[in-house]
Amino acid sequence: MKKILSAILVFTGLSTISLAQDLNRVKEPDMLRELHRSEILIPDIPGYKTLKGDFHMHTVFSDGEVWPTVRVQEAYIEGLDVIALTEHIEYRPNLDHLTGDHNTAYEIAAPHAERHNILLVKSAEISRSMPPGHLNALFLEDANKLDTEDYMDAIEEANRQGGFLFWVHPGWLAQQPDTNKWWPVHEELVQKGWLHGVEVYNWDEWYPIAFGWCNDKNLAYLGNTDAHMVSAYRFNLAEYHRPMTLVFVEERTVESVRDAMFARRTAAFFLNNLAGPEHLLRELFDASVEVRQPFMVNEEGTARLEVTNPTDLTFILENPSPSNDSPEKITLRPRSSVIITCDISGGEALLPYTVTNLHTGMEKNLGVELHVSSMP
Ligand SMILES: [Zn+2]
Ligand SMILES: [Zn+2]
Repeated sequence: MKKILSAILVFTGLSTISLAQDLNRVKEPDMLRELHRSEILIPDIPGYKTLKGDFHMHTVFSDGEVWPTVRVQEAYIEGLDVIALTEHIEYRPNLDHLTGDHNTAYEIAAPHAERHNILLVKSAEISRSMPPGHLNALFLEDANKLDTEDYMDAIEEANRQGGFLFWVHPGWLAQQPDTNKWWPVHEELVQKGWLHGVEVYNWDEWYPIAFGWCNDKNLAYLGNTDAHMVSAYRFNLAEYHRPMTLVFVEERTVESVRDAMFARRTAAFFLNNLAGPEHLLRELFDASVEVRQPFMVNEEGTARLEVTNPTDLTFILENPSPSNDSPEKITLRPRSSVIITCDISGGEALLPYTVTNLHTGMEKNLGVELHVSSMP
């Protein structure tokens, strides 16, 4: 068998050479991969489409290492729908080598985004010392007008333009070395209606305390990369999707993304975790997980059945009051089912679980009930 194989290899090797008609150049299209994207399976929820977004990234037009179109290409192949290039207003170390202003990254990326069906949001990062720290402003008309002396003027201008503002990396060690605290100025911004969200996940860290702020102050949850270099260079994309913000929209348009953000219809997705308002995470869970009818029930009423998760999300379920009647822990990995046993001697059962990787607040996880019934 080995001999035949090597004979075929030698033969095809020779034939490639003999078939090459042009000695000046031989094109090898197989060397290039097709323009394909990884589709991330996250279900829509009732009334809304689920979009995947990254609303915090940098390019050479602030302190990033890539050209704006590269961000579009990454977003495309990594399965995103919507992105924002959020260049620092106050920090542009490449200006000795580049011209352009605070809108240039957007202007370069926009035609490329359109050709890749990626929604692009005109944005900027207001980058000040603490307080208020760094705030991203999305859906801007003109980022140049945010280049002001006083940070409050920049924030006011972003709001005047209809911008959505969120506090980014609130727990960044360089700015909050001790406790990750909510400052009076953030309270003032909320009172004025000028702060609309918090980045609860950034790069490789998350801020559980910020889940509480989002709930208490009615702010949107966001999770983003804050990528400065090529995303695949540092993110563990073999095991996880890049961190992202899920946005639940009426239509796949920038305007609809904006509406969803102001309505707080967002969730952060990072590693295997989701963080967001309880009702949204419940709808995502319900749209993802199916408890099937038992395929076997014994004389004592112990049923065997499958719980199925056809999505790319992971759900880790723990029984808050373990008993022998149902499993202590159920791990629903992406695109898989598990067989569980439970007691349905009463005809049906409601199994209470805490989904420990779905965060609905600070030290709060989604509670669910699996309804098992022998009836279809
Ligand atoms: Zn920053
Ligand atoms: Zn940043």
